[in-house]
Amino acid sequence: MTTENDIVYLNGRFLPLEEARISVLDRGFLFGDGVYEVIPAYGGRLFRLNEHLARLESSLDQIRIRPPLTHQQWRAILERLLPDDRDRSVYLQVTRGVAEKRDHAMPAQPTPTVFAMSSELESPFDVHAGVGAITLDDTRWKLCQIKAITLLANILLRQQALDRNCAEAILIRDGFVSEGAASNVFAVSDGVLVTPPKSHDLLPGITRDLVLELAQANAIKAREAPISAETLSAADEIWLTSSTREILPVVELDGKRVGGGVPGPIWRRMHDIYQTYKQLLRSS
Ligand code: PMP
Repeated sequence: MTTENDIVYLNGRFLPLEEARISVLDRGFLFGDGVYEVIPAYGGRLFRLNEHLARLESSLDQIRIRPPLTHQQWRAILERLLPDDRDRSVYLQVTRGVAEKRDHAMPAQPTPTVFAMSSELESPFDVHAGVGAITLDDTRWKLCQIKAITLLANILLRQQALDRNCAEAILIRDGFVSEGAASNVFAVSDGVLVTPPKSHDLLPGITRDLVLELAQANAIKAREAPISAETLSAADEIWLTSSTREILPVVELDGKRVGGGVPGPIWRRMHDIYQTYKQLLRSS
């Protein structure tokens, strides 16, 4: 949780959360015209910061906002939001800023609004028990590779999963898995780990890339290939990946058991590899 006395960053200043204010004419507020990142920090160290900042720059470029800060400036700001070495998650957001009137057209000389805060990283899930998920039609737009703050479709989808006591909605577009409402998806079939290739249908997840990297380094067979809805429902294992949820095994899909109904052996292996990798960062 972020509490009202926590220090946040807004447009060049560090101040308590309860004092942070933006204009109601901010285009982020009026239009959802902005992008964001969520970066985990373990033991006071930002995890995969360069990869997150590279994705931020790609998102900014695609919505035509010039990067407001350099990597070094971002690092300095975000590190100041880590008061101790407890595990935290850092949130940062850049919007197109305040315009004189509410008009869809982009202002000629925008001054982006830059905001960042951190909160304690606590997973509500028992990863060793696994979670339930449902499949839903992917009702989102065709620019899912941009990490846009405009998340209404994701919210509506995820809530349908929560209403059914499930942790996530796995989204299906034209018969194939795109991603989760707030995660990427992996399936294990016949001992091979598969995740959909990057495209405009999914966010290029930082955790997704790391899982593929760790699979390769540890001789776990993995490939990027389309996953049909039928392949998903027959998979031996299904995982969800995200920066805050790490690698979460799905043990029930649409009310049916996945594999043996418990996290599978390849997940157990990858989970251990991932935790060891995090420890290395802590001690490096
Ligand atoms: N897809 C979506 C739609 C997400 O919201 C997220 C989490 N932000 C992810 C994938 C996972 O990305 P990452 O591993 O970079 O957190």
